[in-house]
Amino acid sequence: MKKYEPFIMEEDRLMLRTVRDFVEKEIMPVRKQLDDPQRGHHIYTELMEGLVHIGLQKRALPREIGGLGQSSAVSQTTTSEELARGDPLFGIMPGMAAWIFGPAIVSRNMTVLEKFAAQFCEDKLHTAALSLTEPSGGCNIASAEERGRTIQTIARSEGDEWVINGHKRWTSNGGIAEIYLVLCQTDHALGEDGIALIYVPAGTPGMSFGKPENLMGFKADINLEVFYDDVRVPKAWRASDEPGRDGRNVRRISCFARLISAASLTGVAQGVFDYVVEYTANRFFGGKQVRQHTMQAGILADMAIDLLSARAFYLQIASWFDNRAVFGSPTGDFLLGMASAIRIYAADATIRSCNKAMELMGAYGYSEDYPIAKYLRDSKILQLWEGGVHQTRIDVARAFYSVHGPELVIP
Ligand SMILES: Cc1cc2nc3c(=O)[nH]c(=O)nc-3n(C[C@H](O)[C@H](O)[C@H](O)COP(=O)(O)OP(=O)(O)OC[C@H]3O[C@@H](n4cnc5c(N)ncnc54)[C@H](O)[C@@H]3O)c2cc1C
Repeated sequence: MKKYEPFIMEEDRLMLRTVRDFVEKEIMPVRKQLDDPQRGHHIYTELMEGLVHIGLQKRALPREIGGLGQSSAVSQTTTSEELARGDPLFGIMPGMAAWIFGPAIVSRNMTVLEKFAAQFCEDKLHTAALSLTEPSGGCNIASAEERGRTIQTIARSEGDEWVINGHKRWTSNGGIAEIYLVLCQTDHALGEDGIALIYVPAGTPGMSFGKPENLMGFKADINLEVFYDDVRVPKAWRASDEPGRDGRNVRRISCFARLISAASLTGVAQGVFDYVVEYTANRFFGGKQVRQHTMQAGILADMAIDLLSARAFYLQIASWFDNRAVFGSPTGDFLLGMASAIRIYAADATIRSCNKAMELMGAYGYSEDYPIAKYLRDSKILQLWEGGVHQTRIDVARAFYSVHGPELVIP
């Protein structure tokens, strides 16, 4: 665990050792089978159950509802790095409950926490989904610049209820989640103050689903469209009714999603590097191991530099997340910009590493019988989601000065 020093605490060291052991013994031997169209999701579920048993589902949830209350960004990112080395899907999914209930936690919405989040503190797998992206676009919708004006899912107030109408796309855990956090607009004239994050349990009348998407990677996830037609839920299931708070909660989700994606990408870069160092020791040309040739040693050194830089960068930013007194809240422009910066950097570095590994391995790098192709297919989405590569650059610039975009055009 030396590589995470001096950022980690004693409790992180213990958890990281357990997680690393789990990755070696449980994930590595079956990771290729996660892409099997018949068995992949089942294997994924069994592995997630194992991670629940080691405490990852409840880890960042508050103690008062049975969680472990270990919500430091350094703990969460280093765990994601370790897990993603085994398979990138696990860098993301075990932390989803914390992102999804994050708005209720910071808004102190005890109705939601006791009714929905408390179950996630049991020693049993539960599943949650984040329903943000719409057919008209995913980058715009969570963009702080747009201030909620492009969200087309509407929550109408009727008595003690919200009535939700809208169409979401690309929802991970779609159709299997027990609880959905749905991004809505209550009134476009209110801009960011009109944004509502509303918890909708599965089975609520008016919810329906499309068929699973056919994706390049993340094959063991079930990702699909969700339709909300006059879905009625109690007012208390909105994360916060304080004007502007849910808008800030959306930024908080973006901030953590980008930071955790960066750590997961770093885990992929580590996995790729470990594999290719070993592979090039067992492959020869010109009477020497591939890795003993100067050109190939230089390529391996470049991969190591990318890996070390990505890790140092995300650990630094994660430690800033944990020091609110100095760096502010993850709902603010500064940390959102920093999380965006490290996600951009880690994605470029990791995808570059996958390409270099393939070039070092030749056809074996391109073969699905070896792990590099899967690492590349899975890691690409960690770069494309949550703001993508363009809008996140605007968020980086906004950390330093006020950036004004062109006139807003709503399609
Ligand atoms: C495997 C997978 C899992 C996913 N999981 C989830 C999930 O659980 N929940 C969820 O809600 N969504 C999820 N998504 C959706 C994902 O977050 C979106 O696809 C992503 O946000 C990009 O949105 P888009 O595809 O609509 O692209 P668009 O937003 O249409 O972007 C198109 C192009 O325009 C650029 N662009 C768009 N807006 C701006 C802007 N404001 N500034 C600069 N450039 C811009 C983009 O960079 C891109 O080049 C998932 C997607 C996949 C593939």
